[in-house]
Parts: sequence; structure tokens; C-alpha cells
Amino acid sequence: MTLDDWRDRLGDAFMQTLVIPKVMLERGDGCHVWDIDGKRYLDFLAGIAVNSLGHAHPALVEAVSRQSASLVHVSNYFATPPLLELAERLRRLTGAGDGGRVIFGNSGAEAIEAALKLAKLNKGPHGRRHRILALANSFHGRTVGALSLTGKPVLRADFEPLVPGVEHIDTTLEALEHAIDDHVAALVLEVIKGEAGVIDLPEGFLRRARELTERHGALLIVDEIQTGVGRTGEWFAYQREGIVPDAVAIAKGIAGGVPIGALVTFGWASDLFKAGQHGSTFGGNPLATAAANAVLGEIERAGLVENAARRGAELRERIAAIGSPLVTELRGAGLLVGVGLAEPVASAVAAAALDDGLIINAPNETSIRLAPPLIIGDAELDEFEGKFRTALEKAA
Ligand SMILES: *Cc1c(COP(=O)(O)O)cnc(C)c1O
Repeated sequence: MTLDDWRDRLGDAFMQTLVIPKVMLERGDGCHVWDIDGKRYLDFLAGIAVNSLGHAHPALVEAVSRQSASLVHVSNYFATPPLLELAERLRRLTGAGDGGRVIFGNSGAEAIEAALKLAKLNKGPHGRRHRILALANSFHGRTVGALSLTGKPVLRADFEPLVPGVEHIDTTLEALEHAIDDHVAALVLEVIKGEAGVIDLPEGFLRRARELTERHGALLIVDEIQTGVGRTGEWFAYQREGIVPDAVAIAKGIAGGVPIGALVTFGWASDLFKAGQHGSTFGGNPLATAAANAVLGEIERAGLVENAARRGAELRERIAAIGSPLVTELRGAGLLVGVGLAEPVASAVAAAALDDGLIINAPNETSIRLAPPLIIGDAELDEFEGKFRTALEKAA
């Protein structure tokens, strides 16, 4: 069967939301994947910051094989050792510690749904906290609750009215200071806006957000679905700013591609959810939690948070060394890199790269996003540099 046949069948079988891909992938190993014709690609997107350990990593293969040969699922009427191990590990890694509590779901959007319910539980005296703040141009997921927080009008338009009470503010200190008052239940934000093109928060924004939410009794909820789990060179990106949030949403990279999401609360926020107020059939099942334990364990064992910091710095040096006039800025942190382009040619750059066997992503026409596996080393950086140079030249 030819690729065109595959594409026809995909176009028939799926809702029109499916962007029919140019490549059908068949297998992966380390930082590379192969398509159905045997062509090899260097994967510098990692399933959008998901495949933390790359592909077919022995630690993940072993954990999933072992766990699936035993318990895959047990329902919420029972607990399992990997479930407890993961919850305790997340309390430690997030810094929530003994006051932290965890709830599991199956995706980033579900972690955000839990966060939205948490915000609604922060009612304040006489239920006066009815405002929830999020940032313009943010991305928090596609379910109705998560979409209510997402600050992208094009994604929202066809589904309005969404959850009432959510307001999107500009990402400036002035807008933040103007918006926060005693009626705010929560401020939800990404530490780096990934889908927007890997856009950093303005200097001091996160610290100011922490001060103001604390002063007004609002929750500070950070969405680390894309930035978390070592990607930015810290376990979580808020740790670089030295702040402690009230809740953190985690998904994508935590289990290397096995679906799982988590919300971790800190301090007083840990007392908001009461018995019966949330739950999920699949959430926290032994297969997904064993996978997450294996991934987090391997990140710790192999020093991959440090590797993300070091390789992230090297990756930035490599891109700068290409000296392309197209590249105007490098954003993000660690191995989450936004390459700002002088001309709106990002999809042409990504297409040229793909042709040449390099997977990168164009979240918009003036940004390239790079999010390689956390395991990359010199060989992958060499291969990337050569192919990215060529792609930039072709698109220029
Ligand atoms: C991907 C993403 C989500 C949504 O996660 P899904 O698993 O696709 O539901 C939410 N927030 C951020 C910052 C993301 O990058």
C-alpha cells in the first residue's frame, strides 16, 4: 500500500479534526523513528514533549511488560503499590512534600479539569470567589473545562458559551495587578507558553503572580503539562523562579507516552477536595503508574534533568552557530526551545526538515518548537545541527 492509499483511508475513517499526516510511522528506537518505507527520522519533537526517554527505552519497556503481565487495572475501589509509589514520588519531586496531595487522570486536559474543579472549591466567604483568571494566548487543553481556560479565540469560538467566570488577561505585570482582587478563586498559567510557540513569561511575572494570589487568597495553579518532568532543566519550571504554587498540573512527559495526568496540590489547597468530589475509572491505574514510576526513576537515575539543562544550552549554541539570518531569537528553557523566525516560513522549515529526516514542529508561522527526548547527546546534536541548517537554508 502506498502512502497516498494510507492517507485516503485516514481521511475517510477519521473526523475531519485529523490533520492527515505526511508520514506513517512504524517503529522507534532511542531518538529515532522509522516510517513505513523504512526512512529514518531524528525525533526532535518527542510526541510534543512526551517521549522523555525517547522510543523503546528498556526501562519503560520492562516496566510496562512486567506490569501488564500482572495487574493492568483494578478500579478505584482498590489501590496498588505503583499508585502509592507515584503519588509519593510526585509529592517529593514537586516540592509539595508532606502537605501535598495527588489526584490522577489520563491526560493533560483531565489534570486541568481537576484544577478547574479545585478552583471552584476555593469559594471564599459567602462564595464570593467567582472569578478565575487565565492568560491570553494560553493553552490548557480541549475538553470543555480546559478549553474555557485556553486563551486562544480560534479554538474556543465554535464552542461558546464555555464555563462562566473565566477571564483571560494579558501577560503583563500591569494586567495582572489590575485583575487580581478578593473575588479571584484562582490564577491558572503556563510557566512557558508551549503551544503559543514557546513563549517565556515576562521577567518577574511568576513571582508577582505568587505574591498577589497569596495576598488575595486565590490559588496559583501552574500548568506544567508541557514544561514539567525535567524538560526545562528543572523538575518543574516554577522551581527555577523559586516559587511554590498551590497546585501543579502534570501529564505529557511523565510516563513516556503511556496516558496519564496528575494534579498535585500544596498546603491548604490539599484540603479543598473532599470525598466523592472527583474520580476517574482509568486514572491512576497500575499500568500507567508503573510506567510513570519507571520514567521518573530513569530520569533520576540517569541525571536527565541535568542533561536537559546541559544539552539545552548546547542546542542553543548549535543553533546560534548556524548563523542563519532567519533566526531572530531563542526562547524557552532546557530542552523546550522556541526558535523565533524573521519571516513567516516555519511550516516550510519544518517540511524541509521532515524531508531530510528531522522531526521538528511549527506551532505558528514564525516559531519552530524543539522538544527532543531528554536523553539526547552529542551524536543527536550533530545530526540535528546539520539537518536544521539545511532546512533553514531551503526555506530562506
Ligand atoms: C498538551 C497540553 C495540555 C493538554 O494535554 P492533553 O493531554 O492533550 O489533554 C494542556 N496544557 C498544556 C500546557 C499542554 O501543553
